[in-house]
Order: sequence, then structure tokens, then C-alpha cells
Amino acid sequence: KRQAIVAANWKMNGSLSLIKEMISALNSVKLAENVDVVVCPPAPFLSAFAVCAQSESLQANIHLGAQNVSEHKSGAYTGEISTDMLNEVSVNYVIVGHSERRSVYKETSTQVAHKVKATLNAGLTPILCIGESEDERTAEQTETVLASQLQPVIDEIGIDKFIDVVIAYEPVWAIGTGKTASPEMAQATHLFIRQFLANANQIVADKVPLLYGGSVNAANCEELFAQTDIDGGLIGGASLKVDEFKIICSSA
Ligand code: 13P
Repeated sequence: KRQAIVAANWKMNGSLSLIKEMISALNSVKLAENVDVVVCPPAPFLSAFAVCAQSESLQANIHLGAQNVSEHKSGAYTGEISTDMLNEVSVNYVIVGHSERRSVYKETSTQVAHKVKATLNAGLTPILCIGESEDERTAEQTETVLASQLQPVIDEIGIDKFIDVVIAYEPVWAIGTGKTASPEMAQATHLFIRQFLANANQIVADKVPLLYGGSVNAANCEELFAQTDIDGGLIGGASLKVDEFKIICSSA
């Protein structure tokens, strides 16, 4: 059975008190045996999460993730955060190439590929985000766009290294809009992504967890997670609500 993952992307939301609340809530959540949970709070709270997780003896399958990382090792990059720094505060996962990073901060697929490489080299697990815009979906460009986001990463790290990568498919039109892709549509796109990887390496393709993101909530998660090629979710808004996020975690 493939590893399933439910990841919380808090974006620029949350607080120290939400960190504490979330940790105590998640300590009582019943997770299926193949499920990992990853909480990705804003960078100033990473260290507090790690400290609190340890003092509360947080269950082992709940991990800490960052929302972004620099592709550079260290140096004169004001405002950036390195993989070494993330390692020092017990981070295990890094969201890379989120659509908001691509659209608002103009990260290119080449830069995203460099970030994935830096993340893997530091022994961290990248959650590589890909997804098409509404216009691209309407123009039937979805598969071309996803391929153009995946290929630079494959070229940079090599397909064999994808065994350590998690992919999150987030259609941009479904992010924060309440418009979820139907389970059938999401499954069809996930299948395309898996087949795209399988063209390069079948064993890797069968292993890579493919998460769906975009308006996932307690009411729709079960049906989405039940799809063959959907191995969990990347949750935005609903991950800030402790009780709702617990339901989503236990549905995976
Ligand atoms: P929402 O769940 O708020 O739509 O956000 C999805 C997302 O972008 C997670 O990375």
C-alpha cells in the first residue's frame, strides 16, 4: 500500500497559540497505519512546533514541514531560509513550488527544480506542487502544463530520485475558491501524472504519493481520498480549523 499523507499548509495564517492547540488536538487523532500528517506553519513558528511536539510526545507519524526554502546553501540572500536551518529545527518536509510562489513570487519551474534538488540533498522530503489555471483547463492545456512543470524537475534530479518526492496536484482554480475538482476529475488528472512518471520509471510511479489540494474539507475529503491515485491531500483553509483538520486526517 502506498504511503498516504495529509499535509496542512497554513500559508500566512496561524499563531503560536494555534500551534499549541493543533499539537494537542493531533495527539488524540486516530491515523490509519500508512498515514503521515505534516503540519506546515509559517517559518517563525517552526521551532516552537518542534519544541512543543517533543514536550507533548506528539505521535511519531505527525511531522513538521516548511512552506518554502531557498535553493541556495547559504549567503547573501536576505529574507531566505536554507535547508540546513530547516534541519536544525526538526523539519522533515518542504512544500516546493506552491502555485502562490509561482504566481505571486514568479518562481519558475527551473527554480522549483533547483529547490527540489536542494531539499533532497539535505535529506528533507519535498512536496512538489503542480497545477493548471482555470484558463489552461478550459483551453484543454492541463496535461501540457503539468508535464511542463514536472519535466524540469525530472531533468534536474533524475527520475530515480522521485522515489523520495511527494507530489501535490493543486488545480489553481480550486485553491481557496470552494470549487473542488470532482473526485472523477481529480482521479483522471492524478492518473495522468502517475502515467507521465511511469513513462520514465514504473516502479517510481507506483510509489510516489500523489496528494490532491484545492478546497478540500471535512465533507469532501473521504470521496477524494477514496480514488485509486489520490494518496491524501494538501489542505489550506480547512487545516486552520482544528476539529475539521482532525476529521480530514482520520479520513485518509
Ligand atoms: P485551500 O484548501 O484553502 O483551497 O488551499 C489549498 C492549498 O493551496 C494548499 O496548499
